[in-house]
Amino acid sequence: MSDCLFCKIASGEIPVEVILETDAVLAFRDIDPQAPTHVLVIPREHFADANALANQNPGLAGEVLALATQVATHEGLESGYRIVTNTGPDGGQSVDHIHLHVLGGRPLTWPPG
Ligand code: AMP
Repeated sequence: MSDCLFCKIASGEIPVEVILETDAVLAFRDIDPQAPTHVLVIPREHFADANALANQNPGLAGEVLALATQVATHEGLESGYRIVTNTGPDGGQSVDHIHLHVLGGRPLTWPPG
């Protein structure tokens, strides 16, 4: 999608700090970190949200989740971390290209706000 921020990041048009990547999945540091480690993991192909990805390409959904766990290892989050995907307006989703947030590096409160 030509007007999608994360599609532009996936194509390299907008630069980011890449953490890990595969042919199909990209992990990069969030521009507004909410924890000492805050990395976003996206499929390079555009899917609007978790529903679209899980229903249309469940194998790729697994690859995205797998890279998120590899990010946690890469970032040294041995004492724990959180994987979140905000979905829709009530979920707080602001970019309509599915992304997992990998958060860690400090104790994380639950439930979130
Ligand atoms: P969400 O609100 O769940 O849709 O998450 C979108 C995330 O994208 C937020 O945490 C933003 O800080 C992050 N973000 C927005 N623009 C950029 C960018 N250019 N590079 C990295 N992260 C970004």
